Amino acid sequence: MNIVVAGAAGFLGSHLCDALILKGHTVIGIDNFLTGQHKNIERLKQDWNETQFRFIEADVCSPVNFLENIQIHQVYYLASPASPIDYVKMPLETLYVGSFGCRNYLELAERHNARFLLTSTSEVYGDPTIHPQPETYWGNVNPIGPRSVYDESKRYAESLTVAFHNHCNVEVRIARIFNTFGPRMRHDDGRVIPTFVKQALFKEPLTIFGDGSQTRSFCFYSDLIRGLITLMNNPLSIGPFNLGNPHELSMLALANEINKILDNPAGIIHHPLPTNDPTRRRPDLTKTQSILGWTPEVSFSKGIRETIAYFRDTLL
Ligand code: NAD
Repeated sequence: MNIVVAGAAGFLGSHLCDALILKGHTVIGIDNFLTGQHKNIERLKQDWNETQFRFIEADVCSPVNFLENIQIHQVYYLASPASPIDYVKMPLETLYVGSFGCRNYLELAERHNARFLLTSTSEVYGDPTIHPQPETYWGNVNPIGPRSVYDESKRYAESLTVAFHNHCNVEVRIARIFNTFGPRMRHDDGRVIPTFVKQALFKEPLTIFGDGSQTRSFCFYSDLIRGLITLMNNPLSIGPFNLGNPHELSMLALANEINKILDNPAGIIHHPLPTNDPTRRRPDLTKTQSILGWTPEVSFSKGIRETIAYFRDTLL
């Protein structure tokens, strides 16, 4: 199949390109490097030939006036700033990828009669009042809070995706991704795992916001990529489906684990909790497991060791 991956230079997008090419598909990667890395595309071009991987540098918010002479079968839409420091710095860009950009790539799917997959997020649940979060939960989002540019962009993108399905007959799939980590994250993207690993590698104290009792659950990238491909190819349901790892960790436990693995004597320091920071997040995977048959397999301790090895190689 010929498959478009929008957001190919990013952490998840670049791994998805590899996984799809390994399955024998031709991948056309799109990115404008807003938050992605040139080295991810250079490596893809180096590892694969031109019939396996092609790259088009483009802003997804601009009309798609290319890809007319090739039949596209599937479109994965991952383009979006994804870490809080990125989307707070780029609020308009973040809102536009969920609206104008998402529309452009839904229309591309419509023109090609291709299937479209949106990578939405657990952020659509906001600061949840029920725990763990099933897909039926509508969320608790402050529509004008600092995180709203991301949360509402994704909520709008979900709505747009379902409207294209219902009114334009586009085949769609929606993934709600919970925190995912692994090699190829940017060390400076502000997400907690790269931040803690970098601080521990340089023997600095790990910065914890609040008392560290807030929890997150972390999924290793390889499980997540397998989940996206399973979801795209399932014949049964458009979703949304939660994809993530239900193993919950407090920020304090996470910091202590990373300090222990890296033998960091500097300990931790506390900073004030940012506004609207969710206190708990854990996917309810009942629907995903029963319909998609997908479940995460990589343990946190294996995933974190692989991630630390990656950052050690790239930073030291
Ligand atoms: P990332 O920032 O590494 O990748 C996103 C990619 O999209 C980047 O390469 C960026 O340059 C590209 N992009 C952004 N705006 C663009 C534009 N206007 N035109 C073209 N390209 C553009 O983030 P990621 O962690 O790989 O996330 C991928 C997707 O998964 C995102 O949609 C994100 O919201 C979603 N997601 C990720 C996580 C996670 O934990 N990694 C959790 C929930 C949802």
